Amino acid sequence: MNSSEDHRDIRDGIAKLCAEFGSKYWQECDQGSNYPKDFVNALTKEGFLASLIPEKYGGSGLRLSAGAVILEEIHKSGGNAGACHAQMYTMGTILRHGSEEQKLKYLPKIASGELRLQAFGVTEPSSGSDTSSLKTTAKFDGKNFIINGQKVWTSRAEHSDLLLLLARTTPLGKTKKRTEGLSVFLVDIRGLIGKSLTIKPIKTMMNHATTELFFKDMPVPKENLVGTIDLGFKYILSGMNAERILIAAECIGDAKWFIEKARLYAKEREVFNRPIGKNQGVQFPIAKAYSKMRAAELMLREAANLFDQGKNPGEAANLAKLLCSEASWEAAEVCMQTFGGFGFAQEYDVERKYREARLYQVAPISTNLILSYIAEHVLDLPRSY
Ligand SMILES: Cc1cc2nc3c(=O)[nH]c(=O)nc-3n(C[C@H](O)[C@H](O)[C@H](O)COP(=O)(O)OP(=O)(O)OC[C@H]3O[C@@H](n4cnc5c(N)ncnc54)[C@H](O)[C@@H]3O)c2cc1C
Repeated sequence: MNSSEDHRDIRDGIAKLCAEFGSKYWQECDQGSNYPKDFVNALTKEGFLASLIPEKYGGSGLRLSAGAVILEEIHKSGGNAGACHAQMYTMGTILRHGSEEQKLKYLPKIASGELRLQAFGVTEPSSGSDTSSLKTTAKFDGKNFIINGQKVWTSRAEHSDLLLLLARTTPLGKTKKRTEGLSVFLVDIRGLIGKSLTIKPIKTMMNHATTELFFKDMPVPKENLVGTIDLGFKYILSGMNAERILIAAECIGDAKWFIEKARLYAKEREVFNRPIGKNQGVQFPIAKAYSKMRAAELMLREAANLFDQGKNPGEAANLAKLLCSEASWEAAEVCMQTFGGFGFAQEYDVERKYREARLYQVAPISTNLILSYIAEHVLDLPRSY
């Protein structure tokens, strides 16, 4: 299906909403390191952030491909969904593995915007990509799980009411597999900040509201354990295909933005009495970036369709994340080069989007780890770590 036909009504709705938040809005957020609160509120009010929550719990019950289109269009408009995208994949963990009580208690409030589930605490400073070696512990005292440890790169924690947290409940060495002994908690952080939870912002090369978290005897009621104790790693993994597909969609949106920006500038900018786009040295890289974007987009649609059909999208989701992040980065490079010196001026947004687009080859999973997945799980090559 042609991407422009796909979910036309959603694309139009998002384009209309994003038109209210133009270049100046994103520049001000970026330069002031401000969270795009009005934008997130508008998306919530229109129900877009509840699109994947089933109707039974107050959402619109749409499929993942619809969520992907929402994020793609935000990025295609020049905006950035990093301020709120996590809600779309973190709530999947509650939906698939949470108890009915948890779903009834939290999902309708997340759908209405009364509660924000934007924070996802997995990465730690010493474990990095090796999630199973994380050190944050959760010990049950008969009433609560008591959390001690530290997370890094927990984005949006200052703008969230709830945190989906992965912590070790059984020490390494006492489990059969390294990936066992980890548990997922849905933590209501509102009353904990400044007491047992300290949040420290991390300044980054783009505006991403990311933080470090420090837990000192942080109590989490036992009813906030998601699913079965010690099986949390499996639950987090089950959400990763959705996360990769949604992030790939943001990359495709970015790639489309860069290509369109470069195309228009190449037609309009005249040097040596001719539009720069008349030079094949300028137009070919744009044409190449477009071709790579379209190929990556096909993989994205395949991954989203497999997910929606309930089939295993592991290979396609990983390939989509890899190819789309590479396509967006190639388009970013081409756009920057097409703009010449003006690419560096803040007013054109190219430098901002360029900084933002670079993230996706590192987070939420870095390119090497995707390649490693493909080598081991698709090509049956020996495991390297
Ligand atoms: C802005 C930002 C926001 C983020 N938001 C969140 C969030 O909300 N929640 C969260 O939990 N995490 C978040 N992350 C963390 C992100 O998921 C990690 O940065 C990412 O998974 C990579 O981990 P790392 O930075 O520890 O790199 P490392 O694991 O230290 O790896 C460093 C480099 O070595 C390579 N490498 C490591 N091991 C191997 C290997 N065996 N083979 C080949 N190459 C290898 C990696 O590919 C990478 O290039 C965020 C990160 C950033 C930068």
